[in-house]
Amino acid sequence: MTIILDLDYTLLDTVRFKEDFFSHGEEVLARTGDYLYPGAVEFLSRLRGTSARMILLTFGDIAWQTAKVDRAGLRPYFDEVIATAEEKKNIIGRFRGADVVVINDNGVETAAMMAAVPEFRYILKRGPKVIPESLDCDIVDTFDEVEKLLSFEKSRVQ
Ligand SMILES: [Mg+2]
Repeated sequence: MTIILDLDYTLLDTVRFKEDFFSHGEEVLARTGDYLYPGAVEFLSRLRGTSARMILLTFGDIAWQTAKVDRAGLRPYFDEVIATAEEKKNIIGRFRGADVVVINDNGVETAAMMAAVPEFRYILKRGPKVIPESLDCDIVDTFDEVEKLLSFEKSRVQ
C-alpha cells in the first residue's frame, strides 16, 4: 500500500501554527513539531512500522512547506516528501498502478483528485475547512479512525 498524506490541517494544526507564527514570528517555525495534532506522531510511527510506502504531499510555497516539514521532524516518517506549487491532482497520477490511499483534510482538493485519479482510495480527515456535501469518500475525525479504515484496506488487499 502507498499512503499519500497531506500536511496542513491534516497532520499539522495549521490554524494554531499560523496564529502563533504571525504573532511570534520565526521562533515558531523552529518548533513546528509542537503544532502537530495530538496523536499525529504516534500515527505516523505505527504506519512507519508497516510495509506501507509513505508519501507526504504538501501544496504551497515549496521553500515554506519544506521548512515546516523539516522543522516538524517529519522526514524520517516518509519515503518521499513532495512539496509542490502544482495542484495535487496533477501530481498524484505518478503513483498510478500502486494500491494508493490519499488522506487529506481539504474536500475541494480531494474532489479534484478523485476526478483526476478515481482508482485511488480517498479518506478525508476533517479539519477546519467546509466539506462539499457532494464529496463521496470516507470522512473521519481522528487518526484512529483513519487507521481503522487502513487496516481494513490492508486485510482486503493481502
Ligand atoms: Mg491540508
